[in-house]
Amino acid sequence: MEKAIVIVVTVLRMATVEFEKKLADMLKRRRASKVIDCTVTHLEEIPSKIESHRYVPPMSRFEVSLNWGAAIPGHTLLAHMDLSNGIVTSFGGELSQAEYKRMDGRCELCNQDRERKHQFLVRDDATQATQVVGGSCARKFCGTNLENVVASMNYIEGAIKEAYGEESESWGSGNASSLPFDVRLVLASAEHVVKTIGWTSRQNATDSRPATAEFVFNACCDALWGKHYNEESKKAVQELAQAARDLDLAPYKAFVANELATKWSDLAQSWQNMLDCGDTDFHGFGRLSYLVVAMGRSKDNKQRKAYQPEAGLGKMHDFPGQWTVVNLKANSSEWGDYLAVTAQDSEGRTVWFKSTKKTTGVKLGQTFQLRGKVTGIKDTISFMSHASVIK
Ligand SMILES: [Zn+2]
Repeated sequence: MEKAIVIVVTVLRMATVEFEKKLADMLKRRRASKVIDCTVTHLEEIPSKIESHRYVPPMSRFEVSLNWGAAIPGHTLLAHMDLSNGIVTSFGGELSQAEYKRMDGRCELCNQDRERKHQFLVRDDATQATQVVGGSCARKFCGTNLENVVASMNYIEGAIKEAYGEESESWGSGNASSLPFDVRLVLASAEHVVKTIGWTSRQNATDSRPATAEFVFNACCDALWGKHYNEESKKAVQELAQAARDLDLAPYKAFVANELATKWSDLAQSWQNMLDCGDTDFHGFGRLSYLVVAMGRSKDNKQRKAYQPEAGLGKMHDFPGQWTVVNLKANSSEWGDYLAVTAQDSEGRTVWFKSTKKTTGVKLGQTFQLRGKVTGIKDTISFMSHASVIK
């Protein structure tokens, strides 16, 4: 059987079930499933990628072909001509000049040349003989109204192209943004990602260091497509799905309610809206990831306290005990770029200093002995100068 109309579509991998359902609904609604054979062939899988700092989720490419097989048993419909405007639509290849000339309004079956609206070029599959027929004569050997079948074919073709875009990835990135994700899955994923790779906002993202939200989105998509992955990632995916099911939204809601009560902000309001609604689209990923970061910081702030040197402010001395780097941040001032280091001891005492020649190379999580001066104290942080470390 020849392919009549072939459309190549690219669909988000997670949306393929929805896509096939939509297609079936479309055929059913047009009552076309009895007269049109619709086959969907899987062509390829397109893996996820990072493109211009943005996570592009994995997609599947399909070929959808609509055939006349069921509409005209034993025959193939080659072309349709709308005689009211002279537009010829050919299915399954170009028409020859001779075939085109034959579609002049005369029906070759009844040999009548009368006023009509539709004309069809039909080929007998057994003999390969072609015939130009009018609508009512076509009904004699195919028992169906070909005008309606052609209209349905055109409608379905247009609807698929409109919804999924022919040979385009618009459905991929465009609709990924509007798909709803469970906030508990997003938060569970953000908890994991922030803990393992830290926080990078979309504004500060680079190609080599994508935004945290992209990784969180990636992890959520993985959790939803677990069946496509190997054993190792299947386990990670199951753990994330479990973490999402176990996640208690109450602490998040309490934190956000407190934020709104103490210092109202657009951000806090949007957190509350997402938590109340229960799901979010792509645009909520950055904000929900940042909620995890903000809650973590507030917890750290409660535990941390300033270091009060016995020697007093401004005196060079060895700090007692061991200190661990809890935060590293690249900053710049009018004097140039510098690295800001936040270190903490086992009691939560916290100091902050600009990296010097004597602290060059300190890493996040590294523990060492510390020497220097405390020049000032603000809230829970002591500010240092002349810092040096003994690793
Ligand atoms: Zn006829």
